Amino acid sequence: MNPTENSKNAYIEASKYFPGGVNSPVRAFKNVGGNPLFIDHGKGSHIFDIDGNEYVDYVLSWGPLILGHADDEVVKELKGAVEKGTSYGAPTTLETDLAKMITSIVPSIEMMRMVSSGTEATMSAIRLARGFTNREKILKFVGNYHGHSDSLLVDAGSGVATFDINTSPGVPKDLAYDTYTVAYNDIDAVKELFDNHGDEIACAIVEPIAGNMGVIPGTQAFLDTLRSETTKHGSLLIFDEVMSGFRAAFHGAQSLYNITPDLTTLGKVVGGGLPVGVFGGRKDIMSEITPAGKIYHAGTLSGNPLAMTGGISTLKQLNDDLYAQMIGKVDTLTEGIKKVADQNNVPITVHHVGTMWSYFFNAGPVNNFADVQKSDQKFFAKFFNELIKQGIYTAPSEFETNFMTSKHTDGDIQKTITAFDVAMKKLRNKDMTQFRD
Ligand code: PMP
Repeated sequence: MNPTENSKNAYIEASKYFPGGVNSPVRAFKNVGGNPLFIDHGKGSHIFDIDGNEYVDYVLSWGPLILGHADDEVVKELKGAVEKGTSYGAPTTLETDLAKMITSIVPSIEMMRMVSSGTEATMSAIRLARGFTNREKILKFVGNYHGHSDSLLVDAGSGVATFDINTSPGVPKDLAYDTYTVAYNDIDAVKELFDNHGDEIACAIVEPIAGNMGVIPGTQAFLDTLRSETTKHGSLLIFDEVMSGFRAAFHGAQSLYNITPDLTTLGKVVGGGLPVGVFGGRKDIMSEITPAGKIYHAGTLSGNPLAMTGGISTLKQLNDDLYAQMIGKVDTLTEGIKKVADQNNVPITVHHVGTMWSYFFNAGPVNNFADVQKSDQKFFAKFFNELIKQGIYTAPSEFETNFMTSKHTDGDIQKTITAFDVAMKKLRNKDMTQFRD
């Protein structure tokens, strides 16, 4: 590997203009004590930094790039789209084309609105739920992250957890007060809350497969309880599938649990690397949105033709066979990681669902946010940097998820398992604070 001097200098320069040198916090690598790598380009499963180093990428823009970087077909269609014009602020048939694909893949979404980020999707879905039910309280789960709108920045995962912020300064107290939070997978706490406050709750929003405290699947019983309690009390159930949509399974986490939420939010893969978010669901609820109804929603770049093209050209390449292949690769990788951890006597818990995977330096079980917090964060930080030195680019926090693409090769996967082995041999005992008995 070359020294990362160019990235260091680029970071110093960027820090003059952006708080912490970045435009989204976890990118700064602050919690892993490092200097972020500035990326020049990507192709397939690999990214290349501005010092000429090549990495096997499992971050993949935090999930969207299920076909890898610069997929030939996606690039071709985007080039065609850009030549026609970049934005009109008027309808195009591209929006309907993408919407038809979404309803066929995720049938609970009968009607939808296109937006430009996951944050916008969840924020709008919450407003819709409040307007539809005429209630103000919402329920979310500790360690779930739904973007950075005020009502949802309470006990959140992802960067909020990485930097140990409970509720961000700047969130009005009243809004935080309207957000009930309960531990993930805690069925009794959900029942108790609905028994006491059910008729005030507009909606429960949940990541059915949590991906913002590492990967933690909701249990079937937990999600079934959420479905039945919300129905019983006239609240809406929102599945935030910004991450798990097209990732946990082709048809989303909802297909794995056989649960139909009232509303679903999508993002990431649905735009194929361009800015797209979606909120949608029951037609009677969606019909309350302006101008069909009175609950306000709008966006200058909503349904942008380039963004729609990114989504269409990505979704049309997805199919069950491709998922079976990607899941096979995740199985090989995670089995390999567990095996080398065992051989090196390193306590580890590895979770994976579909094309999402993560690991915790924690003997487990890891079922909620409090369990993740027991992991060895210092060891994780050193380990992450060892992987980087070996050309493996993974999520820089235990509160994040790694992904797989259709482009990762057997060679990439074997290289990654070897890198885990080498890093464990180098760091175990000396740097670990948790040991096996
Ligand atoms: N919901 C979930 C489940 C997410 O994982 C994320 C982003 N990681 C968001 C919402 C917010 O999406 P965005 O960053 O596009 O605003």
